[in-house]
Amino acid sequence: MSDYMIRATAADKQIRAFAITSRELTEEARKRHNSSPIVTAAMGRLMSGAVMMGSMMKGEKDLLTIQVKGDGPMRGLTVTADAKGNVKGYPYVPDVVLPANAMGKLDVGGAIGSGSMNVIKDMGLKEPYIGQIALQTGEIADDLTYYFAVSEQVPSSVGLGVLMSKENTVAQAGGFIIQLMPFTTDETIDKLEKKLAEVTSVTALLAQGYTPEMILDKLLGEFGLEITDKMPVQFHCDCSKERVEKAIASISKEELQSIIDDGEPIEVNCDFCNTKYKFDINELKEIIR
Ligand SMILES: [Zn+2]
Repeated sequence: MSDYMIRATAADKQIRAFAITSRELTEEARKRHNSSPIVTAAMGRLMSGAVMMGSMMKGEKDLLTIQVKGDGPMRGLTVTADAKGNVKGYPYVPDVVLPANAMGKLDVGGAIGSGSMNVIKDMGLKEPYIGQIALQTGEIADDLTYYFAVSEQVPSSVGLGVLMSKENTVAQAGGFIIQLMPFTTDETIDKLEKKLAEVTSVTALLAQGYTPEMILDKLLGEFGLEITDKMPVQFHCDCSKERVEKAIASISKEELQSIIDDGEPIEVNCDFCNTKYKFDINELKEIIR
């Protein structure tokens, strides 16, 4: 099954919801970065959240970037999503291995540590929107829930999960975001809180083969769930030799000249997808011209 996300409303539009299955895009990120299970889980969770958040943006060219920075061994990660289901991401340290946490789960919070999360929305305006929060647990879903409450003042529930196989490939990945509109009644809130309390682990649902539709039906089925949209999602990096060339052209002339004087071809790596671009001396001379 290919990755996709759905959007939905419930309780006469008092609730809006998103759910995603993201095994393939998480596995693609794992392969590109050769990441350990904990790091893969962190990337899968954040990319899944970012794709759903990206779909909340209005403009075709809008971009959402989430940077997580922590004092743990992984140091953090950066992911970027657009409004059309494309996402890419990279960890700062890809090979972190830690013992399981107290619940026997991959210790993503321990790998990231204490720190902050920046949510940057580039909507084609002069200045991007930047929301910053202190990490709550470093487990990603809790931090995004907190971000929505504090920075966007939208009460939300975020659940994200990545399940690794015994071979350390991605067996399942996915999650949901449920948000309350300002006119939501107390009755709906109470009922929803009880329902959410029943779902303690998204990973457990994924392990049982829950699709995005089934996840939202479990959580919101009693609220008159209405699925309004379905969209394919994928790991996609838009880098190219031309773009890297522009980046090289933006460094100072002296620096570029000293690279040329060294007489060695250079290799530039795209952080997001690990593609390597080679430039020989003639190409560098062309850029400096
Ligand atoms: Zn790339």
